[in-house]
Parts: sequence; C-alpha cells; structure tokens
Amino acid sequence: MTAQIIDGKQVAADMRAELKAEVAELAKKGIVPGLAVVLVGEDPASKSYVTAKERACEDMGIYSDDNRLAADTSQEELMALIEKLNKDPKINGILVQLPLPDGLNEAEVLLAIDPVKDVDGFHPVNVGKMVVGEKAFLPCTPHGILQLLMRSNVTIKGAEVVIVGRSNIVGKPLANMLIQKNPTGNATVTVCHTRTKDLSYHTKRADILIAAAGRPKTVTADMVKEGVVVIDVGVNRVEDATKKKGYRLVGDVDFEAVKEKASLITPVPGGVGPMTITMLLYNTVESAKRAAGIDEH
Ligand code: NAP
Repeated sequence: MTAQIIDGKQVAADMRAELKAEVAELAKKGIVPGLAVVLVGEDPASKSYVTAKERACEDMGIYSDDNRLAADTSQEELMALIEKLNKDPKINGILVQLPLPDGLNEAEVLLAIDPVKDVDGFHPVNVGKMVVGEKAFLPCTPHGILQLLMRSNVTIKGAEVVIVGRSNIVGKPLANMLIQKNPTGNATVTVCHTRTKDLSYHTKRADILIAAAGRPKTVTADMVKEGVVVIDVGVNRVEDATKKKGYRLVGDVDFEAVKEKASLITPVPGGVGPMTITMLLYNTVESAKRAAGIDEH
C-alpha cells in the first residue's frame, strides 16, 4: 500500500477561505476581529513566525496589533502591556511569542492573559475547560491535527490512537481532545514518551499514529502496521549540503519508508505546520464572535 498524502497546505487554504468569508460577513456588522502579537527580543525564528502570523491576519481582514519589544524589556513592562491589551476592546486575541528571553517569567505572563483572549489556548482556565469537555479555546497545533483527521474523513470514534510525545502544547492536549465523549472524540488513546518501555509495541497497534517527539526517524516502517494513518508533527533540521541554507526540514517519521505501509500520511513540511496559524486565526474569529454575543456552538 502507498499512502495518500494529507495536504496540509490545501486543508489550511480551504479553512482560511471559509474564515475569510466569515470575517467579511462580520465586517458588514461592524465587527473586526483583532489579534495582538507580542514579540520580545530578536530571535530570528520567532521573528519569522510573528511576521507570518501578521501577514495571515492582513490577508484575512483581521486587525493585527504588532508589539515588538526590546530583549531587555522588564517583567513589569511586559505585564503592563498585557494588562493594556486585556482592556483594549479592539483586541480579541493576545499571542505572546515563546520562548521569552532569559530573565522573563513566561508562566506569569501567560497567566496574566485574560482567558477570553487566550487564543493560544495555553491558559490553565482554557486547559481545564478543555479537559472537562466545556467550550474552550483549543490549542492551535492539536486542534489543527483534529481538523486534518476530520477533513480527511478518518474515523476517530473507536480508533486506537497512539501519540508519541506528552508536551503541554501537543501530546497532552491532543490526547484530551481525542478521548472526549463527543463526535470528534471517542478514541482509545495511548500517550508514549521517553520512559515508555517498548515504543514499537504501542506504535504497531495504532490505527492513527501521531508523532510529536522532535527527533528524526523516531517512527520507522517496522514500527507501524499496514493501513495506519500517520500524522507527523515533528519539525527537525537535518544537514543537507545540497540546500542553500545547508539544511532541510524533516519530521519525526521516516516518511519515504512509512508511506509504503500507511493509508494516509502528512508530509513535513506541508502537513501539520500550515494548520497551526490557521487555527490561531480561527480562535481569534471565535473570540470576536463571542465578544459580540454571536455564539453558534
Ligand atoms: P517537546 O516539548 O520537546 O516534547 C517532546 C515529547 O516527545 C516529550 O514528551 C518527550 O518525552 C517525547 N519524546 C522525545 N523523544 C522520544 C522518543 N525517542 N521516544 C518517545 N518519546 C519521545 O516537543 P513539542 O513542543 O511537543 O514538539 C514536538 C515536535 O513537534 C517538535 O519537532 C516541534 O518542532 C514540532 N512542532 C510543530 C508544530 C507545527 O506547527 N508544525 C507545532 C508544535 C510543535 P519526555 O516527556 O519523556 O521528555
């Protein structure tokens, strides 16, 4: 079997087109969703993520409030900015680009964001709501993965899902979403990590395998069963002298070999990555609708 490729760029483009139409409808009612992005320091990767988020907002008709602060910004200055954004009615979502420079207290900053504007879904209030199955902002990467599965018509209900990785931004929230007793949940989920005794025992049982370990070739062809659906979250740089930059990006899965056994698989790049910013835009639009008293769910 050779897998069908799940085209994350296409799914993201479809979702963005739907959102753009929704934003245009909201604009007719005088509602313009607003996202504040806070970047502290000069980290090149963070700068390029932030620029991509701002461009995506612009393209969508979402108001983007750009806050770029010097690396020596104090905790007090940053907290004061968050407070100001919490009160600003033009702002529906606040995103603080992580990691923050050394010396700044990340947990304190994230906790200061008003949960109704926490479009990253990292605030403990939103995490708690998600766990008990209440309406919450879902964290963007796992929510994007859920959308990829749903829009590829993968049956989640009753499936054996194995997640490799238990981080707070991917593995743990995704496991929580997939065990919910709701139409997009009802899976049987196993979460693996570096203390898992026999990783391949678990991965071989998976109907749906999610790799979020941050290490190339964590999943090889001998570790999966025929017909598995594979979602590769990993983004890893490997040296490649043929590339101008001297490296290329690969996921956590040995793509070329695993695609010969899988039924569906996401590539890296072009799989999960494009979904993450899309879900941030989705949450910002949701937040604007809630603030305006429009609640369809
Ligand atoms: P993380 O915080 O480093 O967590 C990695 C997890 O994988 C940990 O739970 C770790 O176990 C586990 N792990 C690592 N090596 C393993 C192995 N050999 N066997 C079993 N488990 C192993 O990483 P993250 O933030 O979740 O990100 C994971 C990957 O996804 C990274 O490559 C990241 O760049 C990528 N990512 C991509 C997107 C996107 O939008 N495309 C978004 C987020 C993350 P322990 O807990 O025991 O250490």
